[in-house]
Amino acid sequence: MGECARFWYDVKNQLAQKVDEDSWDSYLSGIVPVSINEETCELVLGVLNDFVALWLDSNYKSLIEDEISTVKSKAYAITFVGGYKPEIEATEKPVVRTHNTYVPQTTKIRVEQNLRIRPDFTFDNFVIGNNNKLCVAAAKSVTQHLGTSYNPFFVYGGVGLGKTHLLQAIANDVLKHHPHAIIEYHTSEEFVNLYVEAVQNNSLVAFRKRFRNADLLLIDDVQFFSGKVGSSEEFFHTFNTLHNAHRQIVLASDRTPHDIGLEDRLVSRFDWGLSAEILAPELETRVAILKKKQETQTVKLSDEVLFLVASRIESNMRTLESALTILTMNVSALGSEMTVELAEELLKNKFENEAARMLTVDHIQKHVADHFDIKLADIISKKRPQNIAHARMVGMYLSRQLTDLSYPVIGEAFNRNHATIVHAVDTIRKKMAKDETFRSKIAMLTKYLKG
Ligand code: ADP
Ligand code: MG
Repeated sequence: MGECARFWYDVKNQLAQKVDEDSWDSYLSGIVPVSINEETCELVLGVLNDFVALWLDSNYKSLIEDEISTVKSKAYAITFVGGYKPEIEATEKPVVRTHNTYVPQTTKIRVEQNLRIRPDFTFDNFVIGNNNKLCVAAAKSVTQHLGTSYNPFFVYGGVGLGKTHLLQAIANDVLKHHPHAIIEYHTSEEFVNLYVEAVQNNSLVAFRKRFRNADLLLIDDVQFFSGKVGSSEEFFHTFNTLHNAHRQIVLASDRTPHDIGLEDRLVSRFDWGLSAEILAPELETRVAILKKKQETQTVKLSDEVLFLVASRIESNMRTLESALTILTMNVSALGSEMTVELAEELLKNKFENEAARMLTVDHIQKHVADHFDIKLADIISKKRPQNIAHARMVGMYLSRQLTDLSYPVIGEAFNRNHATIVHAVDTIRKKMAKDETFRSKIAMLTKYLKG
């Protein structure tokens, strides 16, 4: 290992000059050499956790391999493994404080908070799929390194994809390991209400003390802050106080921080940490979610029935769960087996509603075509004139924002592949971030389509 460590020192020096500062601090500086096999030319590098391992693997693997081959004059294949702490410990102070350094939560608030956090929303009960694996890895890292790994941690994604579950899994895990930790979990709407109440009752001091004393602040559905000037301002200060004290902040929203329509200074704070998207799960993951939910129930449905449900309901896992409940209740009531035919009949409405979602993309396409004064057929055609391409991208973006459909499904509706939709959504987002007029145009279209 001595040899391994020495050459890694040279590689690291080279890398430090080629990588931007943020990536270096967050991901590369903590790499430690674990083992090297000179015969097979394999090198194992240890990093903090699986998330960092995955991230480095997809972003920096080839650069690192290049640097190694320069230093060693020989090519090595590298593998990243999680679970290795950097040699030099972070200097930040530990975040969950020991008993005597904070004012404990009042019993009332504590009980109220404990009731809010659902005991079944744990990491163990959360099924990992391609749609959420990076997000879960990041959430676990946040939990293990409160306030020091990613702060804030921002989760975003469509309705019913598990954002609340994941936030509460973090809370549950922290409570398990630090039973005295002060946790505040609220939706932004609740935060707004508590703030308004505090203003009315002249109790802002107590309000501030409460929130600025938290070890872990989780705010769900951050999008409701949009347009609430007074309370977002208050939240901004709460955020700064907690962040300065290295207390962990976790946020969830149905859109990216940039698409919420919050003040720039708040959005730029969100950029300090890590944002991770949860996508719609694929079929296998949906089946696994149903199976997971079934574990705690006495009634078990056949794989065939579970498969039917999972293949017809793809966008919202809450709908998936309620379909399961309908079926199990029927089995309990009738005392007979659930067949595919009976399930089909019982869930007819739910399935039809799901199918109707596809029409929404139709609807969006029609409206966007009208708005930009082009033909509907052009939206799904391969034509490339700028105005058509632009309208089409807006249509793709709105379809992604306003339906719960996955990229591949939207792709089908636009006669394109999944990557094109990802690219379009990204392009529109970037344009919105830069261009105020464009942002209000999109807001207007959104409002119309939603109304
Ligand atoms: P969101 O907050 O994103 O709207 P929720 O966290 O409320 O979604 O999730 C809706 C339901 O679906 C919850 O009951 C949750 O447990 C379940 N769910 C979503 N994704 C998963 C998953 N990957 N594994 C297990 N359950 C999931
Ligand atoms: Mg939620």
